[in-house]
Amino acid sequence: MAVLTPLQIKNLTEQAKQSKGLIPHSVLTPLLSTLQCDIDTLLQALLPVATSFSQAPVSQFNVGAIAYDKTTGNAYCGANLEFSHQALSLTVHAEQAAINNAWLNGAQTISVIAITAPPCGHCRQFMNEIADADSLKVVLPTLETDLKTLLPHSFGPKDLGNEFCLLAAKSHDEIALPEQVSQQLARQFMLAYAPYSNNPAAVEIKTVFHGSFYGRYAENAAYNPSLSPMQSALSQLALAGLTLNCVEVVSITLVETATGHNQKAVAAAVLESYFCDGILQHVLVE
Ligand SMILES: [Zn+2]
Repeated sequence: MAVLTPLQIKNLTEQAKQSKGLIPHSVLTPLLSTLQCDIDTLLQALLPVATSFSQAPVSQFNVGAIAYDKTTGNAYCGANLEFSHQALSLTVHAEQAAINNAWLNGAQTISVIAITAPPCGHCRQFMNEIADADSLKVVLPTLETDLKTLLPHSFGPKDLGNEFCLLAAKSHDEIALPEQVSQQLARQFMLAYAPYSNNPAAVEIKTVFHGSFYGRYAENAAYNPSLSPMQSALSQLALAGLTLNCVEVVSITLVETATGHNQKAVAAAVLESYFCDGILQHVLVE
C-alpha cells in the first residue's frame, strides 16, 4: 500500500480543509505518479485526511470515506458527524458525507468509494441511490469489493417508479423563489433530490469569516437513509474543519415548498445541538 508521510497527510488535510473536503485531480495526478500506485491505493492512503474531519462526540468512533469521480478525476472527502443530545438517527455517516460532497461539487458519477470501515446497511442503501450504483467499487482496508456484492437483491429508486437517481436528478426550475433567497441558495434548492416527497429543500449557513455553506435534501428510496439539507450543510462545515460552535453565524436559512414541507423540525433538532435553533429562518415557496 502506498504510504504518505505524516507531513504529506498534514499538508493535504490543510488543503482539503480550504476546499471543503475536495481533493482535485491536480493534486491526485502528481501523487499517483510519485507513489507509482493506482487510484484505489491512493484513495486508501488518503483516508486519514478524510477521517480528520470526523466529529463523533457520542461514539468517539471516527470514520472517513473518499468518493472518486473518474470523469473529472476529483476525489471528495466525507466523515461521520454526530450531534450531541439528539437522536442517533440524525447522524451523518462518512459515506453519506462523501457522496453529498461530490454531489454538491457537481459530480455526476462516482466510480469508487474508499472507507475506513465496512459500510453499514444504512450506507449501502444510501449508496444504492446514485446513478451508477450497479458498478460502484468499494475499497476497504482489507478488501476490494463492489456495492452489488454488498447489497444483493436490493431495493432502489426504480422499485418506486422513480426514473431519476441521486447525482442525475431533475432540476426544480419551475418553482419561483422570493428575493430574500440568495442566488446560491436558490441554485441549491433547484438541484435538491426529492422524488418521493416532492419537497425540494436547501439550506444556507452564512458565516462572518468563513463564507457560506450549503446543503441540499437527498432523499432515498428506503426513506430512512435520506439526508436532510441541514445535515448536508453541517457536514460541509465539518469538512472545512469547522462546527457551529466555533464560527460566527450571520444567518441560517432553510427553503422548502409550502405544499410538501417536512424539514423544519429536523433542521431545528440538529441546530439545537449547537444552541442555534433560535436563528433558523424558514422560507416556504409555492
Ligand atoms: Zn453507515
